[in-house]
Amino acid sequence: MVLRTARVGLRVTAGQRRRCFGLLLAAGDAWACVLDMNRWRRQRGLYGITNFQQLCRELHKAGPGVFGELNSQCAEGVLRRYSDAWFAAAKRRKNGDATARFPRRKRRLVPVRFRYGCFVIEDQRVRLATARGHPPLWVRLDREVPYPAEQIRSVTLLNEGRRLFVEMTAEIPVATYPPGCEPDSSRMAGVDPGVIHPFAVAGPDGEGLVVSGRAIRAETHLHLKDTKHRRRTVAKRAPKPGQAGSRRWRKYRARQRKLETRHKRRVKQAQHEAAKTVVTWAAQRRIGTLVVGDPRGVLTLKVGRRHNKRVQDWRIGQMLRYLKDKAEQAGIRVVLVDERGTSSTCPACDRRVPKPRGRQFRCMHCGFSGHRDLVGGANIARRGPGGTITTNKNPFPVVITHRRAGRHLPGTEPARRDPRRRPHHGTVNGSHGRPRPAPPPGGESLAPGEDQQHGLITNVR
Ligand SMILES: [Zn+2]
Repeated sequence: MVLRTARVGLRVTAGQRRRCFGLLLAAGDAWACVLDMNRWRRQRGLYGITNFQQLCRELHKAGPGVFGELNSQCAEGVLRRYSDAWFAAAKRRKNGDATARFPRRKRRLVPVRFRYGCFVIEDQRVRLATARGHPPLWVRLDREVPYPAEQIRSVTLLNEGRRLFVEMTAEIPVATYPPGCEPDSSRMAGVDPGVIHPFAVAGPDGEGLVVSGRAIRAETHLHLKDTKHRRRTVAKRAPKPGQAGSRRWRKYRARQRKLETRHKRRVKQAQHEAAKTVVTWAAQRRIGTLVVGDPRGVLTLKVGRRHNKRVQDWRIGQMLRYLKDKAEQAGIRVVLVDERGTSSTCPACDRRVPKPRGRQFRCMHCGFSGHRDLVGGANIARRGPGGTITTNKNPFPVVITHRRAGRHLPGTEPARRDPRRRPHHGTVNGSHGRPRPAPPPGGESLAPGEDQQHGLITNVR
């Protein structure tokens, strides 16, 4: 059994929206209360309360109705979250990680988790439990429940900007395969994560997979460019220190948040697609172990603002987590290894070669050449448990499958509803879009001509 989480949007009426945001606000209040209480206690020389049971006792001393419609189980959920975060930070600090911080930041809206028993799922509706004395809160989902209702363990209400979502966590059995088709743990593949190709996989039997992430990069660039442009335009409307923001400024901020969350959602979706592609490909080839290069050791180095930004937009931790989750559900083991030097070692003669500039790897010692990211993948596979690849039994990939992640993103195909510029090559400062036929002599107008208008009216009547 593995735990999987899926996010589903909500379709709410104005009243339901108000109540949902009320719950998020109440959870934010509960979170702020714990932080404040512990700050006061420490200022008075008392110890901070971090133990979950003790926190619950403090909560029940406060009595019912303190946190609006939030019921006590959900309020306890907030305390549990605080307690878990505190102990996780304490553990990391004890192990010598000085960067770990205790929870200290207040947030206005905090996600509310409804435990098993605090929600009811019926068709496309969910009932969220509220405090005693309040009417039941039913909300409609914008798609079908992705898991069988009896497998769902918890439902979390959260917001992204002004949109409301629920995250459903379900216990899902690990995939079963017909006999003879199940993943074989001795069959290994090396996975090289990268910016241009989110995953390049060198598998056994001379097969390889390259997932292209150009669409993700295009989306990132476009978003960055738009953000810059928007910032420049509204900079003069920004409130001065000590000044309250204008209504116009607040509107701009809301729009900015909306676009930011949309960008994040799009990238996330594309990354899920990339990970899914790898796992499906591996399962079809009975690969039981994915050896994944973990570049996070070298990412803390400062390498200039452009590359720093690129690395930050990559969201590698998130990508590896998606891959791990999906592989686990498919019954495939994931092993993380250090990827240092794997892209600059020749897989044929094992000698160091200067890092290639393009996508093609060439060895000046033995004349070997191949796809640069697959070279990384092949070298990573050798670092796996007892792993050897590119022997006679496992040659360097010659059959390469190419897949794209993020087909939904603007730039792969023109999206009708996306008013933004298409990505382009060549001119730096904006493009004029797709080539169009020249306008007719005398100019053109979108307004219907006089004769057309008459024709329309006679047709209708
Ligand atoms: Zn070589």
